[in-house]
Amino acid sequence: MKSSFTRRDFLKLASALPLGYISARMARSLNGEKQNVLVIVFDAWSARHISLYGYGRGTTPNLARLAERAIVYHNHHAGGNFTTPGTASLLTGALPWSHRAFDLNAVADASFTQKNLFHAFPDHQRIAYTHNSVADFLLEQFRADLDEWIPRPEYFLTNDAYVGALFGGDQDIAAVSWVRIIKKADQGYAYSLFLSRLYELLHGRSLDEVKELFPRGLPAVNGDNYFILEQAIDALEGRVEQAARPFLGYFHFLPPHYPYRTRREFNNFFKGDGFQVPAKPTDLFSGAASSDTPMAASDSLLDDRRHYDEFVLYVDQEFGRLFDLLETSGILDDTWLVLTSDHGEMFERGIGGHATPVLYEPVIHVPLMIFEPGRRERMDIHTPTSAVDLLPTLLHVTGQPPAAWSEGLILPPFSSPPPERSIYTIEARNTPLHGPLTEATVAHIRDHYKLMYFFGYPELKGTERIELYDLASDPEELHDLSTSQSELTRQLLDELKAKLAEVNLYETTSP
Ligand SMILES: [Zn+2]
Repeated sequence: MKSSFTRRDFLKLASALPLGYISARMARSLNGEKQNVLVIVFDAWSARHISLYGYGRGTTPNLARLAERAIVYHNHHAGGNFTTPGTASLLTGALPWSHRAFDLNAVADASFTQKNLFHAFPDHQRIAYTHNSVADFLLEQFRADLDEWIPRPEYFLTNDAYVGALFGGDQDIAAVSWVRIIKKADQGYAYSLFLSRLYELLHGRSLDEVKELFPRGLPAVNGDNYFILEQAIDALEGRVEQAARPFLGYFHFLPPHYPYRTRREFNNFFKGDGFQVPAKPTDLFSGAASSDTPMAASDSLLDDRRHYDEFVLYVDQEFGRLFDLLETSGILDDTWLVLTSDHGEMFERGIGGHATPVLYEPVIHVPLMIFEPGRRERMDIHTPTSAVDLLPTLLHVTGQPPAAWSEGLILPPFSSPPPERSIYTIEARNTPLHGPLTEATVAHIRDHYKLMYFFGYPELKGTERIELYDLASDPEELHDLSTSQSELTRQLLDELKAKLAEVNLYETTSP
């Protein structure tokens, strides 16, 4: 049952008491209110490009500022290497070999439809949004557990304000017309040059002003759905302020995902800064990682990296602004705020992007920061952790029952996972829904060692590719130890193969 004692009432009460007398925790015990949860995902945000985690470019001054009050996870890893498996792991607390959302546009296995973050918080007002169409398929799958599934166009610039101005009250029809008339078709022409022109005349001035702020073009999704993070952040803050308590919000924004279109003050910020990238060999799987990612020529990789890093500055600034808004409005007093990503991004070894068979750290090492209500000191966690740990942790810290299906563990400092624990990241996009993994890459991290195991790819011509790195002494993964440390390699590989046999057996015998 929801309490009738609102946050506003609490603020009123708090203001009548001596400063520092009452805490958010006390307020909750006064009214039995549960705490809110707000998960913010920035797409394709590699921890290896975040200065808070040691990147050589100063990309994250705001994260550095906010880290002084956060739990900062230094060795956090995504469940997969692109949006679908990575997001599904965040939302289900399970790894791709269990949730089976392996491929682009896939959703989780039907057995997971009710095994998701939203289902696990039945007493919360559950609100979700994503810019990313692929992640939206997952929200659609879980919509029965969502109190509000915010439509993607809601946070696009080309949405309501302009549609309303052009077409008046009939928004449903207007939205369809809008898509048909204003946007470019695949063939590259507008259905109605006249209305496009009208739109430009009506709104040209304000849109031009916005465009001027983004010299590389407006940030966009799927080509021509333009958006700016400022609008999405403002809308998010307004939405959670209005939400019934307690709420669970999941907001997944596209930046710093490609195309890297930063705001004016960050454009060329790192140009000519003399930043040195370690030389790395070109990979067997070199090439643009997918059509939705940058080119892979080595000279353009350096430019792409710089543009990405400059886009990260924009994300950092907007997250900093969101944090300040949430704090000023008092929301953080009783809200667990989480910052993370669905996967990373890489610009090395002849590979640009993330949808690639290789699982080097830039692709799978992602940020995780947890802002606990009332926390005023920084805590650094260096234990390896996984995206699948987030769901059980959020349940634990908010007093919800555990999710039996999750493969994750409660994160430190809220529990102490065994030091010999194994962390997995999986790329297996060609796996059928119910069938064994026959062409895949798995990264297996234990302590500071990382095994990378490739099998089944035609490029391997029937062989296995196995690499072992010591992430503590060789974070750039330049020295393969699989030969010199053959015993450790064998142990990690045996454990991984046993795990694969287990998941393959389960899936091939499932209906
Ligand atoms: Zn993604």
